[in-house]
Amino acid sequence: QQDLDHNREKLAVVGQMAAGMAHELRNPLTSVKGFAQLLGERLADEKNKEYLNIIIREIDRTNEIIRDFLLLARPRSPRGELVDLNQLLNDLLPLIESQCLLTEVDLVRCQDPALPVIPGEPDQLKQVLLNLIHNALQAMEGREKKTLTLATHYLPDSGEIKVVVRDTGTGMSPEVLKRLGTPFFTTKDAGTGLGLTVSYRIIENHGGRVEVESHAGAGSEFRLYLPVPPSGQKH
Ligand code: ADP
Ligand code: MG
Repeated sequence: QQDLDHNREKLAVVGQMAAGMAHELRNPLTSVKGFAQLLGERLADEKNKEYLNIIIREIDRTNEIIRDFLLLARPRSPRGELVDLNQLLNDLLPLIESQCLLTEVDLVRCQDPALPVIPGEPDQLKQVLLNLIHNALQAMEGREKKTLTLATHYLPDSGEIKVVVRDTGTGMSPEVLKRLGTPFFTTKDAGTGLGLTVSYRIIENHGGRVEVESHAGAGSEFRLYLPVPPSGQKH
């Protein structure tokens, strides 16, 4: 509990700073990127073009960090919108499929046709799924067997829906598992360590919870549980 309070405090401070800085940083970044792209069109030398591509890539990464910061700064409580998680996954499918194709990952999908809608913020829930999928794909880089499984289930007994993101990646050690969700915790060279922090926060704001099962060397499974209010049920 003390850890949790400490995390919350840390997040509050981070959030306040982010809210003030993010917009100020975005504008100059946009112009830096624009001019870098313009320069790219004028460069003939391949080596220089490569350097410029690195610059642009790093600008994109900086933008990602700012985006994560902003999500932490503005944890808006979910509005009254009704979200169909199957539909939401379908919307993301072109993006997910192209990433899987590019990285030679088999995609397995399993959608419960009886999935009820839930009240929530579609953009935030999309961000959660993308964060989990991104981590799953990264964990499978260079692995022999690469399968990404996305599944939805309706659990009528507990009145919840369950969304599963499973990978056959590196898995996690108990030490890493324990630290999941801690702000800025990352094991990656270019990681922000904010993806899961933001995701857990969003699910919490939706009244849900996250379960993680992972086996080092075998893969990981993230399970999201989201409550279905009586009015959201299909009959
Ligand atoms: P980042 O991806 O920027 O490192 P995250 O908050 O998304 O930040 O994840 C934190 C850490 O949790 C990762 O650096 C990684 O060590 C671990 N992790 C998260 N998801 C997975 C996964 N599917 N497989 C293996 N490790 C994972
Ligand atoms: Mg991540």
